[in-house]
Amino acid sequence: MNGLNDGVAIVTGGGSGIGRATAARFATEGTSVVVADVDVEGGEETVSRIEADGGEATFVECDVTDGDEVAAAVETAVDSYGGLDFAFNNAGIEGESAPSSEQSLSNWNRVIEINLSGVFHGLREEIPAMLEDGGGAIVNTASIAGILGFPNLTPYVASKHGVVGLTKTAAIEFGAEDLRVNAVCPGVIETPMVERSQEENPESMEQTIAATPMDRLGQPEEIAGAVAWLCSDDASFVTGESLVVDGGFSVQ
Ligand code: NAD
Repeated sequence: MNGLNDGVAIVTGGGSGIGRATAARFATEGTSVVVADVDVEGGEETVSRIEADGGEATFVECDVTDGDEVAAAVETAVDSYGGLDFAFNNAGIEGESAPSSEQSLSNWNRVIEINLSGVFHGLREEIPAMLEDGGGAIVNTASIAGILGFPNLTPYVASKHGVVGLTKTAAIEFGAEDLRVNAVCPGVIETPMVERSQEENPESMEQTIAATPMDRLGQPEEIAGAVAWLCSDDASFVTGESLVVDGGFSVQ
């Protein structure tokens, strides 16, 4: 894809699901990838798969709730590969399900810390590294829960709406410096996160598929494709956008 060859990317939450597929897609395009995740086994497995396919990747253990660890992951990209061109701020958790009136404060804090503050830490560290080198492209993972309400997912919905706001704001701030910031809003994608919620509520997947015009769940590679496009030169005038990739779920 235009402009991704020879680049350097960081992918948070790269040890599983959407992050793993996107790290692999970057590598296929000729971009070197820093895979950052709290899950060491998952992150190392992503790197092994990329290397087995002839790509270039490094794993960094990183909890996105800790700004210093995110800074160290960005530093690894700069030190190992000479700069930073692309970032996919994607680490996230679903949290516990309960109506707003029954949500625990600990669940609220945990979800906001990972899904929203984690993206904030990413932006804070990635933007200066990219500006050093004349700009770049950042994609943050929001969700259709960043544009719609969903019952029983209060902190998740709030965190993802927050990601959309962070994205718009950074896009305004750095557009003139050739740094584009977009979000991707996946619908329901077949990953370990969704498998967990399916175990809890087996009927929910059938209901989701029935409510999706394309009549199926999405695949992680379909989000990776959208992220690759947003980072490519083909999206050179796209910034501040929240690109919905949901098989039509949110349009009805
Ligand atoms: P997943 O559970 O398969 O992967 C999430 C990854 O994030 C894991 O590797 C996990 O270890 C990592 N992670 C969790 N907490 C972390 C932390 N504190 N620091 C660093 N890494 C951490 O889930 P997924 O479905 O691939 O989700 C990826 C992103 O996509 C999340 O932000 C999620 O909210 C979002 N999303 C997913 C769906 C979906 O249907 N799967 C839909 C919309 C949005």
